[in-house]
Amino acid sequence: MEKKVSQHSRAVHVGDRKRPDATQPAWVPVTIPIHLAASYFYNDMNDLDRVFGNEMPGQSYGRYGNPTSDALEELVTSLEGGAGALACATGMAALHMAISTALIDRRRTIVAASLLYGATLGMLAKVFEPAGVDVIYVDFCDDAAVAAAIEKHKPGAIVMETICNPLVRVPALDRIGALAKAADVPLIVDNTFATPMIIRPFESGASFVVHSLTKYLSGHGDTMGGIVVSDEANLAQLRALSRTVGFTLGPFECYLSMRGIKTFPLRMERQCANARKVAEWLVAHPAVERVYFPSDPKHPDAENIGRLFAEGLYGGIVSFEVKGADRDRIFRMMNALKMIVPATSLGDVHTMMLYPAMASHRDIAPKHRARLGIHDNLVRLSVGIEAVEDIIADLDQALRA
Ligand SMILES: *Cc1c(COP(=O)(O)O)cnc(C)c1O
Repeated sequence: MEKKVSQHSRAVHVGDRKRPDATQPAWVPVTIPIHLAASYFYNDMNDLDRVFGNEMPGQSYGRYGNPTSDALEELVTSLEGGAGALACATGMAALHMAISTALIDRRRTIVAASLLYGATLGMLAKVFEPAGVDVIYVDFCDDAAVAAAIEKHKPGAIVMETICNPLVRVPALDRIGALAKAADVPLIVDNTFATPMIIRPFESGASFVVHSLTKYLSGHGDTMGGIVVSDEANLAQLRALSRTVGFTLGPFECYLSMRGIKTFPLRMERQCANARKVAEWLVAHPAVERVYFPSDPKHPDAENIGRLFAEGLYGGIVSFEVKGADRDRIFRMMNALKMIVPATSLGDVHTMMLYPAMASHRDIAPKHRARLGIHDNLVRLSVGIEAVEDIIADLDQALRA
C-alpha cells in the first residue's frame, strides 16, 4: 500500500512547480511550461562555459536538454527508482540508446529474450546484427538457459521485457538480474507492459529500464515518446552518447507525457482491475478456447508473478483464443466491435483489441509464430478505464458476430 501511495504522489508532483531562487521572479507556475527555445544564454559567458563543461547544471542547447524534458526525466526516474533518464523520440529510439550505451565499451554480443516486442526483434536483426553485433536468443522463462548463455557468450548486454507480448509470460527478472550483476553485464529491461506500478526492475538488478511512453505512461493515444532510465554507473555514458545521436523528445511531447503521467497510477489500477474482471468473464465464455492472464493460478510463470508483481495488480493486457476461429472469424468479431477500438498500440484509456498474427507478430513466419504459441485464433486486449460492464457487453456481442 505504502509503495502505491508514493507512486501516486510522485506522479502528480515530481518535476513540477520548482521554487525560484533569488535570481528569479517570485511566481511559480503550477505546471512545467513547454520550453521551446533551441538554445540558451547567460548574463555572464563564464556561466555558459561552465554549463557546456558539465561543471554547473543549466541549459545550453536543445539537443543536450530542455527544462520540459528535464522535468519529465526527473519524474520517470523517480517512478522507476533510477539515477537519471533520457527522454527519446519513441520507445524504439530509447531501446536503441540503451543498447548502444551498454555496448559502447563492452563485448559486442547480446543475450536477448526470444520473445520480445516485434520491432525490438527487428532492430536487433536489421540494425545491430548488420553492424557486427552477435545476438543470441534464449527462452528467458528458462533461467538455467539464460545462465548458460551468459556463461558461454560473455555478452556486453542482456535484453528482456518484464511481461512478454502477447502471451503474458513473466520471466524471473530477480534471478536474471542476479545473474547479470554476478557477471557484471548491464541488464536492459523494457518495462512498457508492467510499468513501475507493478514492477520496478532496478530493485532486481537492471542497469537500464526502457519505456515506450506512447503506452501506459502517457496513456491517451495522443503522443509518441520513449525514455531510458539508467542506474548511476551508466548515466554519464548515456548522456554523452545522447548529445551526439540526438534522439531527443520534443517539448510538446514531454509536456503531454507529463500531463498523462499525473493520472497514470490511477489509470493503471483501474485498468488492472478491469482486466481481471474481463479475464474472469472470458474464462467462462463458451466461445473462448483459452485466456492468458497473470492472475491465473495455473499460469506457467505463477511463481515469478507471485514474487515480482505488486499485490493485486496483474497488468491491463488480456489475450484470448476464440474456439475454432480463423482469420475471417477474428476479422468479423473485430469489425463488430462498437466501443472497443480495433487499433494497434496499448495502454490507452480506451480499450483496444489487436490481432497479433496481422499486427505485432506479422513479420514472423507462420510456422515460427505457431511454435511461439501465437495462433491464428488469438487476440490481444489492452483493457481501458471504461465501465467494465460496457467492455464485457461489447465483447459479448462481438463474439456472437
Ligand atoms: C510499443 C512498444 C515499443 C516501441 O515503442 P514506440 O513508442 O512505438 O517506438 C517497445 N517495446 C514495447 C514492449 C512496446 O509495447
